[in-house]
Amino acid sequence: MKNNKKCPLCNLTDREKDNVYYEDDVFFIARTKTLKGHKERIMIGSKLHIDKINAPYTNGIWWGNSILPKNIIDTLENICKEVFSYTYKVVVMEGGYASIPEHFHLVITDLEPDSDDFYQILGTRWLHVIDIKPWK
Ligand SMILES: [Zn+2]
Repeated sequence: MKNNKKCPLCNLTDREKDNVYYEDDVFFIARTKTLKGHKERIMIGSKLHIDKINAPYTNGIWWGNSILPKNIIDTLENICKEVFSYTYKVVVMEGGYASIPEHFHLVITDLEPDSDDFYQILGTRWLHVIDIKPWK
């Protein structure tokens, strides 16, 4: 599908290079524009203006309505371990409250209780939990 000029996620990797942690032909991993009271907040998204990823990847893993290749999940986990090294666990949230539902992206957040969206995080289904470091 063609990129949409009005969509903030289309061409994000060109506009916000400083906030991009990873990109390939299909995916990007980047800091979200608003941090909502978190020290870090990132998202994984598609570079195309599509609402789900469903290519039949070998070793693909279902996250919500999309199938993600194992290697991109490994890449995401490695980035999270660096970016979120200040905390213990982060979660990949289902896109239920996503502001741009027509463009595939999932937000990965820490569990900071003083954040602006803490109760929304608790009210959203988690597709995946990433262990950053062990407790003590
Ligand atoms: Zn888009």
